[in-house]
Amino acid sequence: MTDAHSIPPQPVPDPDTAPFWAAAAAGHLALCRCQDCKLWMQPPLDRCRVCAGPTAFEDVTGYGTLYSFIVQHRATVPGYLDDLPYTVGLVELDEQSGLRLPGRLVGIDHGEVACGMRVRAELVDLPGGEFRVPVFRPVDPP
Ligand SMILES: [Zn+2]
Repeated sequence: MTDAHSIPPQPVPDPDTAPFWAAAAAGHLALCRCQDCKLWMQPPLDRCRVCAGPTAFEDVTGYGTLYSFIVQHRATVPGYLDDLPYTVGLVELDEQSGLRLPGRLVGIDHGEVACGMRVRAELVDLPGGEFRVPVFRPVDPP
């Protein structure tokens, strides 16, 4: 059962981010990519910041390396009280240097988290709405 205190903030899709949320709802992690020079862009843009080419959303593997993280000990947003303390990571995806995506880390104790660890994205239901969001789970190095 959920109440107002257990529902996290909900995404508000706009023309730039709507394709991300639609892909996530369909079970795909997709990010913005230039269709001319193939540069990945996060956050998404309508045109490429390098060559001004058109952009579209393409699937990524979800594999990456933990670039940075914080351990949340106190609730700053509703919805995760039962999970405290939890870890929010910034993951550099394998597709491109500098292509980074934030998400909660799951399947690991916060004391075991370390920069450089290998992770893979999973899509999970966001309580309170119809959105799915990426979280990251540690995986063994290749
Ligand atoms: Zn481009």
